[in-house]
Amino acid sequence: MCDNMVSVTEYKCTNCGLNFYDDGRCFYYDEELNQTVDFIITFITANWGSESKIKGKVSETYCSECKKYLKVYVIEECNISDSCNIVREGIKNYIKKYQRKIDELKQIRQNPNYSIEKNEFGSSYVVIPGYDEFYLYLSDSDLNNEKTAEYILAKFYRDIGESIKHYEEIYYKYVNSIYLIIDKSDAESYSLEKVCCPDCGNEINTKFDELKCPNCESLLR
Ligand SMILES: [Zn+2]
Ligand SMILES: [Zn+2]
Repeated sequence: MCDNMVSVTEYKCTNCGLNFYDDGRCFYYDEELNQTVDFIITFITANWGSESKIKGKVSETYCSECKKYLKVYVIEECNISDSCNIVREGIKNYIKKYQRKIDELKQIRQNPNYSIEKNEFGSSYVVIPGYDEFYLYLSDSDLNNEKTAEYILAKFYRDIGESIKHYEEIYYKYVNSIYLIIDKSDAESYSLEKVCCPDCGNEINTKFDELKCPNCESLLR
């Protein structure tokens, strides 16, 4: 399963703008947090979920009847019963994590405060409590410039706005998706090339070999 490095291809429809990734993504269930975690295998994430009781793959497609993204979770390794319901619950909690993150960032944006600190090499940089993603080094001339506060805040608002937008895009895609969860050990035979939408029964391609958008049939790239 996810033991090898896998490459993930993202497709975008040139006509309707929908975007999907193929089945190169993995997920595992984090029992402690009662949530699933989706990830791409890299050197850093290679061991993620190695202790987990549920592991598998995630792919994406789109149901043109329901007009919603369809996320397909295939459980490939599992040593726990009721795995599909556990994964379903875990996905809900994973989505909530994004919601919390967005709320936190909005809170920080409303009331930004920062401090200027020095790192071990003596360089000055800006710290915004609770917003670790913010990165700004200051030169000596920055430090003595009366416009520095303005400069810091301008960068802060731009960056945090982009972060919020990024997390909201992910969040809304999850929230507005339909979920199909398949336990490989339950399914005698299943095809991932075509799946049925659990909401309307529509048969949908998940392989984009023909590079046709499952929504409008235009070219994907
Ligand atoms: Zn399309
Ligand atoms: Zn459907």
